[in-house]
Order: sequence, then C-alpha cells, then structure tokens
Amino acid sequence: MTDIYRIAIDGPSGAGKSTVAKTVAKVLGIEYIDTGAMYRAIGLKMVRLGIPFVEDEALLKMLEETDIDFAYGKVFLDGEDVSGLIRTNEISKAASDCSAFKSVRVKLVEIQQGLGKKKSIIMEGRDICTVVLTDAEFKYFLTASAEERARRRYKELVEKDPSADYDDILRQINERDYNDSHREVDPLRQAEDAILIDSSDMSIDEVVDFIVKRVEKYNG
Ligand code: C5P
Repeated sequence: MTDIYRIAIDGPSGAGKSTVAKTVAKVLGIEYIDTGAMYRAIGLKMVRLGIPFVEDEALLKMLEETDIDFAYGKVFLDGEDVSGLIRTNEISKAASDCSAFKSVRVKLVEIQQGLGKKKSIIMEGRDICTVVLTDAEFKYFLTASAEERARRRYKELVEKDPSADYDDILRQINERDYNDSHREVDPLRQAEDAILIDSSDMSIDEVVDFIVKRVEKYNG
C-alpha cells in the first residue's frame, strides 16, 4: 500500500477520542493530529494578549499574525511548544469560546487540511468528518453517555485534586456539548457516512481494535 490514508474521528468532549487516536497512531505507525489543541492554542493567545472574545478587527489582525502547527504530538504557537499550557480550565473555556468564530475556524481548517495531504494520519476533533477531511478513507463518530464521560473525567481528576466534584464535571460536560452542537459555524454532528462507536460499555482497547482491524483489512 503506497497511498496515504486518513482516519477522521469526531465526537463530544470526554469520549476518549485523543487516547484512542494516539493509540491507533502508534499501532499503525501513522501521525496523530489533535485539532482541539489548535483551538486551545488560539484561546491561549487571546488570553495572553487580553484580546476580547468577540469577532472584531483585533481578532482578525491577531489571526493574520499567528502561526499554528501540530507536529510530533505537540502544538506550536508562533514556534513555541505550548502543549503543557493549554490543559487548564481557563483555556478549555477560551478554546470553546473562540471555536465559535468563523475566522478562527477558517484559519485552522486550512492548516488541518494541509496536514492531511502529506502523509497518513489520524485526526480527531468536532468537524473532521463533516468539514476538514470529508473524503477521509475512515470516518468515525466516537461518543459515550454524558454520565459515563463525567465518571471517566472525575476518576482522572480526583487523583490530582481530591476536591473534584462529579456533579460539577457533569454540568461542564453538558455545557460544552451544548455549545459544540449548537454553534452556528460547523456544529458538532455525526457525518452521514461516519461509523458510530458508542464507547459507554467499551474499553479503550476494544475501540482501538475495532478501528485498527478495519484499516488493516483495507490495507490488505
Ligand atoms: O478536544 P478539546 O477539548 O481539546 O477541544 C477544545 C475545544 O475546541 C472544544 O471545546 C471545541 O469547542 C473546540 N474544537 C472545535 N473543533 C475541533 C476541535 C475542537 O470546535 N475540530
């Protein structure tokens, strides 16, 4: 098999997209691209510069002068590796807010489409099957119930912070689901030709296996 192939995964936050995509990338020896990290990098820059969260001249100018790249599993903002700075609650909110702006989406979608042309990749986000890589060879919509996603997130957080609150996490998940699926530009939805994977009762390994087996069959 000499041709490159693309695996696209969409789904709500906390569904396990990044863990699954990273593992599939390792098993198949292809590159993993986390598009959420790119929205987070833009959110980080807006917070750093104190740019108001409205789509105005200041935002357009900032976008023109901004360089975003994703390589080696890391996100680069104007050449700086910001991967370690974007996983805070403040930046999650900033990413979710700036992802509603058309100018932000146009810029990042163009970069992501470029990344999808060079080599075989697995890319995950909210609009990969529906907008970014509509002609991807493999398309999935990975989800799980909000309660199960909140339980997983709680388990992860409580180890670092014993005051983590399940109800609070569930509320945040429901809020982000609502924002992602109700925004005007490219809302989160399952593409008609994407295969639905509900991981509520599946382990990460089972999901990875399901995806890898199909790709291996295709590759012969
Ligand atoms: O996946 P992650 O939680 O890191 O994404 C951060 C935010 O970026 C999400 O809340 C979502 O609103 C936005 N996003 C998006 N389109 C993508 C990836 C992420 O709008 N392709």
